[in-house]
Amino acid sequence: MQMVLSELIVGQQPSGEPAKVPLIRFKNGDGPRVYIQANIHGAEIQGNAVIERFLQLCRDNAPKGNFVIVPMANPIGINQKSGEFTLGRFDPISGDNWNRQYHFDADAIRAFAQQNIYTPENRVKAAFQQLLLQQLNHRLQSPWGLKTGQQMATSLQRLATEADIVLDLHTGPISDRHLYVPEFARHQAKRFNIPLNIIMPADFGGALDEAAFSPWWQLSQTFKRLGRDFPIMVEAFTLELGSQELLNPSQAQQDALGIASYLEQHGCWDDGTHQPEVVTQHACLLKDYRSLYSPSGGQVEYLGELGQPLIQGEPIARIWHYHKLGQTGPIHEDVTLPCDAIPVLHFASANAQQGTELYKVLTNTFPL
Ligand SMILES: [Zn+2]
Repeated sequence: MQMVLSELIVGQQPSGEPAKVPLIRFKNGDGPRVYIQANIHGAEIQGNAVIERFLQLCRDNAPKGNFVIVPMANPIGINQKSGEFTLGRFDPISGDNWNRQYHFDADAIRAFAQQNIYTPENRVKAAFQQLLLQQLNHRLQSPWGLKTGQQMATSLQRLATEADIVLDLHTGPISDRHLYVPEFARHQAKRFNIPLNIIMPADFGGALDEAAFSPWWQLSQTFKRLGRDFPIMVEAFTLELGSQELLNPSQAQQDALGIASYLEQHGCWDDGTHQPEVVTQHACLLKDYRSLYSPSGGQVEYLGELGQPLIQGEPIARIWHYHKLGQTGPIHEDVTLPCDAIPVLHFASANAQQGTELYKVLTNTFPL
């Protein structure tokens, strides 16, 4: 199978060098259009390893469909080093999160649905995709210009908008593998075999997965109010594939198998071609995905094991106050949660301000 390599220019640096992103395209027979992107956050490199393994699966056994694959999607973020660390989560100039720069203007949906209430499904799909692309082209041509992150995100989003399936590969800080699942695709999401899952509503908050599925979900909801049943035609997920600053090829192989297994449901391969290791899958609603903030400043011992259920009242972290060294009496305090929870990720440093987001946890969990 022929893989076509090219580059997408997503900006220009002060030196005059274009900011370039590598593109890999291939197609084979009839199948869905699939867009996979990794590393929009500079320190989150594991997604590139998953793409490397996924491409090998595609070489071993050519999938049906039309694929656009974008590793190392943020040429500014991945080069943004401070000492030994990669920063790359926020634009260093504006402070904006690189994954909150995508665009969707919901205002056009109601008029579009009213105009197309009797239009056949396939023509609605093509016309709505055109509308979304027009919104992006319009944004790119703004006479006021765009922020660096908006320029980059909108350029990438034009490619994603042509897809039926959008997978955005990320990691957490120190993190177990977890998945953001739009509620309508909960059943399909099981095939990724990712242990922790967060169920999302139709809202748009600027991330790529939402930018891909929200317009179609809201279109379906708007048609429903007008009395027409219309399917949600795009599925999109954010996969959080472990910890930032970490490369784990054997885990990448499992997650590439999970992605392939998920895509089998859309006809890319025969069902059962790929067999990832089956894991226990916990889920909770987005509103129950809670942050725990440090009650004080100090040095943190992280006690809550990622992915392991924690009973209410068990300590999840111990804050040490070494500024009290030499005093009599305890110099640490234990932090507990007000309910049962499953720790998903924790802060990457053992040095925390009061108010630092120490942990994120699933609460009110249920099987996916
Ligand atoms: Zn990320």
